[in-house]
Amino acid sequence: MKASPLGPAAITRDGAKITLLMNAGLAVDLDILNDTGAEGIGLCRTEHMFFDAARITAVRQMILAEDEAGRRVALAKLLPEQREDFRQIFEVMAGLPVTIRLLDPPLHEFLPHEESEFAEVAEAAGVDAEKLKRRAAELFEFNPMLGHRGCRLGVTYPEIYEMQARAIFEAACALETAPVPEIMIPLVATKRELELMKDVVDRTAEAVFAEQGKRIDYLVGTMIELPRAALKAGEIAQVGAFFSFGTNDLTQTTLGVSRDDASRFLTTYVDKGIYPQDPFVSLDVEGVGELISLAVERGRATRPDIKLGICGEHGGDPKSIAFCETTGLDYVSASPYRVPIARLAAAQAALQR
Ligand code: PEP
Ligand code: MG
Repeated sequence: MKASPLGPAAITRDGAKITLLMNAGLAVDLDILNDTGAEGIGLCRTEHMFFDAARITAVRQMILAEDEAGRRVALAKLLPEQREDFRQIFEVMAGLPVTIRLLDPPLHEFLPHEESEFAEVAEAAGVDAEKLKRRAAELFEFNPMLGHRGCRLGVTYPEIYEMQARAIFEAACALETAPVPEIMIPLVATKRELELMKDVVDRTAEAVFAEQGKRIDYLVGTMIELPRAALKAGEIAQVGAFFSFGTNDLTQTTLGVSRDDASRFLTTYVDKGIYPQDPFVSLDVEGVGELISLAVERGRATRPDIKLGICGEHGGDPKSIAFCETTGLDYVSASPYRVPIARLAAAQAALQR
C-alpha cells in the first residue's frame, strides 16, 4: 500500500509515540486508510460483514438453529465468505496491524422480522417457517445490550468463534507475507471467559497450521468494556496480550446509561452541570477514566509489555485523546473521518506534557 502522505503519528518530545489506527469493518474502507494516514486497523467489527444481503440468510439460519449441528451447517456457508473478507483486508494492509474483533452484537439485530425473511431462512435451512418463528420468539430479550452478546456468544456457541478464527488463519496462511492478526474477544468480564475463548482460537490455529504445513504469529487480546473487566485487569492480563478499551460500552455500563437512549435526558444533565459534556462523546474522565487508569496500572503490573489502546467513539474526541495520551495508551483507534483530528489532538497532548 502507499505510504501515508501525513508522515508518522504523533511523536512526543521524549520520543514516545501514540499510534493512530482506524476502525474499519470491510476491506472497502481501506481506501480511506491511505488518505487518513492511519497506521493500521484498531477495530475491525466483524458483525458488519454479516449484514450483507447475500449472507444474512445464512447468519439467520445459524442463529435460529436448534443445536450445534444446525449451526455448523450454516457456519460452513459463511466460512468461505469470511475468509475472503480477511484475505482482502490482510492483502491491503500489507503487514500493518489488524485487530479483528470476533462477533459481538446482540443476536436480535440479526433476527428476521418480515414473513418473507422467515420464508427465506426456512427454505435455506429446510425447516418449517412457523418453527423458526417460535425459535425467534424464544430468543427475544428484554435488554439485548446486556444479553446474549459479545463473548457470551462464543462461550455458549464456541463454533461461531471457531469459524471466525479458522477464516482468519486460513486467509493469513495463504498470503506470502503473513500478517500478525490480533484477535480480540468482546465483552469479557472474567479471566475464565477469555481463557475459554483463547483456547478456541489456539486450538483452531493449531488445526489450520497442521493442515497448511505453516505457522504464523498472532495475538489474542480483549476489549475492556465492562467495569468488572477493568477491576480484574490484572488477572485478565495473564491471558490477554492486549487490551482495547471499548469506551462506548464502558461508559454505558459504568454510568448505567443506555447508549441508545441517553440523548433524551443527557442534554439536561449537561445543562445542570452533572456531566461537563455528553459522556458518550467526551470521556467521563473522572469516572470511566479512573477505571481505565486502574486497568492500565493493573494490566501492566501483570504483563509489562501489554499493548493498550482505545477503540470506542471517544478515540476521535480531542479531550478524550489527551486523557489517553497522559494515561500512557499505546494507540487510539478512531472512525476513519476522525483520524486526522485524533492525530492532531495526540500531537498537541504530547507537546503539552
Ligand atoms: C465499544 O463498546 O466502545 C466498542 C468499540 O464496541 P461497540 O461500539 O461495537 O460496542
Ligand atoms: Mg462494545
